[in-house]
Amino acid sequence: MTDVGVWFVGARGNIATTAIVGALAIARGETATTGMVTERPPCETLDLPDVGDLTFAGHDIRNRSLRDAAERLEAGGGVPSNDTIEAVADELETIDERVCRGTALNCGPRVRELADGPPLEADRSVAEIVERLRDDYAAFRDRHDLDRVIVVNVASTEPELSNPKRYADRAAIERAIEADDRELPASSLYAYAALADGHPYANFTPSPGSSLGGLRELAVDEDVPHTGADGKTGESLVKAALAPMFAGRNLRVMSWEAHNVLGNTDGHVLEDDRNKAGKLASKGGILDGILPEIDHDRVRIDYTPSLGDWKTAWDYVHFEGFLETEMKMQFTWEGSDSALAAPLTLDLARLLSHADERGESGLQRHLASFFKAPVDVDEHDLSRQLDMLSEYVEERTGERPGEPLPSPEARTD
Ligand code: NAD
Repeated sequence: MTDVGVWFVGARGNIATTAIVGALAIARGETATTGMVTERPPCETLDLPDVGDLTFAGHDIRNRSLRDAAERLEAGGGVPSNDTIEAVADELETIDERVCRGTALNCGPRVRELADGPPLEADRSVAEIVERLRDDYAAFRDRHDLDRVIVVNVASTEPELSNPKRYADRAAIERAIEADDRELPASSLYAYAALADGHPYANFTPSPGSSLGGLRELAVDEDVPHTGADGKTGESLVKAALAPMFAGRNLRVMSWEAHNVLGNTDGHVLEDDRNKAGKLASKGGILDGILPEIDHDRVRIDYTPSLGDWKTAWDYVHFEGFLETEMKMQFTWEGSDSALAAPLTLDLARLLSHADERGESGLQRHLASFFKAPVDVDEHDLSRQLDMLSEYVEERTGERPGEPLPSPEARTD
């Protein structure tokens, strides 16, 4: 059995709290694994670490306890239930002690306002912050005698970088760290610290994370798997399933309006246009990839505090068929934001652990179905993305006739 640690960046947030409570509840047999992709075919045939055996820790810039975070979720949206929180309360307290102070470098004022006390950058250079993050990951690994630590970014969305090309290669990133370049975003510092020491990294947010050219190079150099960006959980998931239908039937989509309203802290942070820009870009990219001829494709995101952790999306599709006949389609999606996202973070941790154990490094393109903006993947059709995952699993389990099993050293990058 491999001992795997999951390090959540944004550990006291809604997704991380829901994932931790959920994994602890699964371990106790209190709840089922519904919503986890790795618990059904094809992934269930892979030799993955058990959800109930994962060890949790993380970084955050807020001090509230995990129990408090879980109780606020329950009060605002009913998930997780009070009974579930009560059942895992002692373990939450233990995990609380493993949450370290993080950095909010270049995250924008909306995110900095969340911080209780000074984040790491208040009294440290960029190089010192990176050093500290590396020490935090290493201490977790050593203290719990873990075979590997998977870093999963579920921190608040950062503003877009004005010039990501500045960090196009590893040397440029390392020079920037040494030169105390305070435009480097926190998500990329966490990613650098992880990849430099061989910890696999998943970016569940639209923030830059490991997508910078220099970090992709670092992942290949250090033989570490990584993946991202921006989990595909609600309206964009439906869109990625539905848009190929219009394309396949040669129905010309003229307009696709998508209006999302949500009431949690994520929604509050996205009220700032600088933080919202990255989210709009990754949501908007889905239709560009599937319906390139579309005339009008707009996504709106609005903060409606009374909705708490529930997200409602209303999509309106105006399309044309045979004999220039105009038709319309609408759908409404109402989801518990964190209950949709949390199981996917556990899936990603398990799948990255598996890849790392097999020596697979670089971008894990077969995980595209998990993301709105999969790095370096142009395919946005959900069913084709799921085929990529199935093919990967079949190759690893030898179920693909005629396909040789790749050696553990084989790189995916
Ligand atoms: P949240 O606001 O509840 O949690 C974010 C947590 O990150 C907070 O505890 C905050 O204090 C912490 N944080 C912020 N900046 C940090 C930093 N630099 N370092 C360490 N901690 C930091 O948000 P959430 O609902 O849990 O969502 C988390 C992220 O996942 C957001 O970026 C969101 O856009 C993204 N996401 C969510 C979904 C979904 O379905 N819920 C889907 C795709 C992406």
